[in-house]
Amino acid sequence: MSTFTSNRLRGITPYTPGEQPRTGIRIKLNTNENPYPPSVQTIRSLSPVPRPLEKYPDPNCSALRTAIAETYGLKTEQVFAGNGSDEVLAFAFMAFCDSIAAPDITYSFYPVWAKIYGIKYHTIPLNEDFTVPVKRFIATDKSVVLANPNAPTGIVLTAAEIELIVRTNPDKVVIIDEAYMDFDSGNNSAIPLIERYPNLLVVRTFSKSYSLAGLRVGYALGQEQLIRNLETVKNCVNSYTLGSLAQEGATAAIRDVGYFKRIIAKIIATRERTEHELYKLGFEVCPSAANFLFISHPEGHKFGAELTAYHASVLQSKLREAGVLVRYFDLPRIDNCLRVSIGAEDEMTRFTEILAALI
Ligand code: PMP
Repeated sequence: MSTFTSNRLRGITPYTPGEQPRTGIRIKLNTNENPYPPSVQTIRSLSPVPRPLEKYPDPNCSALRTAIAETYGLKTEQVFAGNGSDEVLAFAFMAFCDSIAAPDITYSFYPVWAKIYGIKYHTIPLNEDFTVPVKRFIATDKSVVLANPNAPTGIVLTAAEIELIVRTNPDKVVIIDEAYMDFDSGNNSAIPLIERYPNLLVVRTFSKSYSLAGLRVGYALGQEQLIRNLETVKNCVNSYTLGSLAQEGATAAIRDVGYFKRIIAKIIATRERTEHELYKLGFEVCPSAANFLFISHPEGHKFGAELTAYHASVLQSKLREAGVLVRYFDLPRIDNCLRVSIGAEDEMTRFTEILAALI
């Protein structure tokens, strides 16, 4: 902080994004990216550069919003597009929330947005097994944000549980962050509930399931009045949040349904195989509906400053030395856990071999 720091910024602890090293890492399993490239059609839509770059992009992202709307059987007016779902979520916090309830263990950007926008942030502890205590989110008198599947656990709530929360908080917006929902094999998305609940906002991203983390595109789905509010926030901050290339690439990606389905199926199969391998190595693994696994070893202990060889932080550094990046959060309740993104099939084979050698 300096003498120039605004009161608003004073005392804020910002979000720490996962590392993006460009050298030295052979297997990168720390930021839940898709290990496979975007589809050929998506790449083609970006080359040659599709639009005159000397002109501003379409501020309404009309073609992209229509493509997203058609994918889910919604109207274009029920879709908002932004620069990554982080931006969409930040706008939603600004647009709808005075106080907000969230689990204690969830996406760690939520408390940061709450803080910077002056929103009261109420945490509700997850159950012992890291499931969300649904009853505690009923009739909260606050806005609610839930990542579903949750991050970093990967555990999913059913659509019926989400509906219960949305139905019992009719005067508050319930934000369901479905960044990882495409990797769920059940039918747990809240999107089909949108037509019945004016207080439901579903937020999604192209960063994971569409292999476009580098393009920065996210979106929100909800009834028209919620979407209009998000547009108002956007036009109070930055009218052109999405560049022309991002709009073109994401439009092509969501239209290439065949490629999308193949990639998702591959990642789910790799997740299931890796989960099985990790069980065999003695790890506890949260049941995951996402493109990552949250794991811990029961022999990972901390005695004062002493850590056993199985402790998550020890394993993380040893994996790093071996050229493998995974994510570790030094936070209460999860300081013996690692979050491992699902990489390509051969990367996960190598990962489990290296891990086996370490323990
Ligand atoms: N929500 C959750 C739960 C996430 O893990 C992430 C990725 N860090 C995001 C939202 C943001 O993703 P993006 O901004 O790339 O769309």
